[in-house]
Amino acid sequence: MNDGRHTEYDICIVGGGVSGLAAAWYAQRFAAEAEAPCRVCVLEASGRWGGKLLTDEIEADGAGRFIVEGGPDSFLAQKPWVGELAREIGLGDALLGTNDTGRSVFIWVKDRPVPLPQGLLLIAPSRLLPFMSSPLFSIRGRLRAGLDLILPRRTDESDESVADFVGRRMGPEAVDRLAEPLLAGIYSAEPEQMSLLATFPRFRAMEQKHRSLIRAMVRTRIEIAKRRAANPGRKPPATFVSFTEGVAALPRRLVERVDADGALHTRLDAMAPTETGWRLRLSDGRTVTCKAVVLAVMADAAAGLLRPVSTKAAAALERIRFVSSANVSMAWPVSALREPPEGFGILFPRTAGSRINAVTYSSNKFRGRAPDGWVLVRTFLGGSRNPEVFEEDDPTLERFSIEEMQKLLGTDQPPLFTKLNRWAHSNPQYDVGHLDVMAEAQAGLPEGLWLAGGSYGGIGVPDCIRQGKEAAQQAVARALGRPAAVDAADRRSPVGSA
Ligand SMILES: Cc1cc2nc3c(=O)[nH]c(=O)nc-3n(C[C@H](O)[C@H](O)[C@H](O)COP(=O)(O)OP(=O)(O)OC[C@H]3O[C@@H](n4cnc5c(N)ncnc54)[C@H](O)[C@@H]3O)c2cc1C
Repeated sequence: MNDGRHTEYDICIVGGGVSGLAAAWYAQRFAAEAEAPCRVCVLEASGRWGGKLLTDEIEADGAGRFIVEGGPDSFLAQKPWVGELAREIGLGDALLGTNDTGRSVFIWVKDRPVPLPQGLLLIAPSRLLPFMSSPLFSIRGRLRAGLDLILPRRTDESDESVADFVGRRMGPEAVDRLAEPLLAGIYSAEPEQMSLLATFPRFRAMEQKHRSLIRAMVRTRIEIAKRRAANPGRKPPATFVSFTEGVAALPRRLVERVDADGALHTRLDAMAPTETGWRLRLSDGRTVTCKAVVLAVMADAAAGLLRPVSTKAAAALERIRFVSSANVSMAWPVSALREPPEGFGILFPRTAGSRINAVTYSSNKFRGRAPDGWVLVRTFLGGSRNPEVFEEDDPTLERFSIEEMQKLLGTDQPPLFTKLNRWAHSNPQYDVGHLDVMAEAQAGLPEGLWLAGGSYGGIGVPDCIRQGKEAAQQAVARALGRPAAVDAADRRSPVGSA
């Protein structure tokens, strides 16, 4: 990124999180492919690039180096956009899959950790035997889940909550012991409010096509097994990936490689349309004109900027709800623990009454996160389920985390360090009707302006990159006065878009 601060650009990208930085990279690439000059600037209100992608290196005396994630720690590998971008910017060799051994994730049921049954893909089983014999469910719960095989499909195409869908197909125990802890732990969300169509549209499509979710999942698994049999030497890919030096390697490399003017500590304060594009008022005192704008900020910030320009788009975006979450990373020597923790972590259903929603064993999930002989863990608190916990002060959140982890790990030693990250009003919620909200917002958007980011068309980092890429394609076409080619390949969206 360059230091230039000019007053005329072709494209202004607002927000220097992963969506905005991806948009800047692809704007540069599409303009180069069109063999046309295109001046791009990226405006970032804070003093740091990367937005929620935040990695700290903690050097602890006598222990060594820990790689501590403050926001996301991994990306769904099935979605191709992180891998594609990483390879384009020369970061392909730094991609790191989750550890092959000890992949299990546990759910806390009746005061003990129970592994998720093998073959479970988010909320649906692809293997019947492990599911039907799992102690995660009561016999009654398993029999109810089995009814999915004979229940009719829903014909109504309207949205419904994830809880309604899972409850309808697999029964209430699958909601309480599977969907609820998974959504609270992964998305800081609650299944009763989360939109099925905006987050897991594949599951509805499976029901439409195969009627039974279990049948659909089993068929998918058989197809995957056939593909693997055709390529016997190939190792099954990891479900999640990160980077050897942590997730912040991605924005760091983008900032090095993007040839655009980048301005930190520079907030977009107001915007107004002109005959040829946009006039932007920035917090550094500049007034900038440009032909196209990509708003790569969260929906609440976008709504504030859009209100004077399009009340319709602003009103729609204001309906997107945000919740707050916190996480605490801590390290212990293995020698101080009853035994080394197993698996990637534990999810706590709300019925467990725990003060933490989930814990990730970061040093088990990815190699190189902690020095040998040390365990790095991260607890998750607050979210949609426990908003009052987020209101506690920092020492209390740390104390909750330490106490819960000491019980789980069997130690009375204090951790070597604690690292707390708070994310106030930072977790967008894709509530039922989210797709309608977005359709309204898009319909109200003025010419020459695009939205990209975690509040809109997919919460996960892969979808943020895809949205940045799509917005860049449109913005470059407008700035150069050429029609935008729709990249059909980017419509691929394996299981879920959240
Ligand atoms: C705790 C946590 C854990 C997560 N875990 C995962 C995970 O494991 N895997 C995964 O895929 N996803 C995960 N996510 C989601 C993912 O991190 C986010 O959806 C994604 O990083 C959002 O990127 P973004 O660029 O759209 O927005 P942001 O990262 O929010 O960036 C927006 C940027 O815009 C700036 N900005 C705002 N207003 C203005 C303005 N007026 N002018 C200029 N700049 C402005 C902000 O300062 C910010 O830097 C997690 C999120 C959180 C909070």
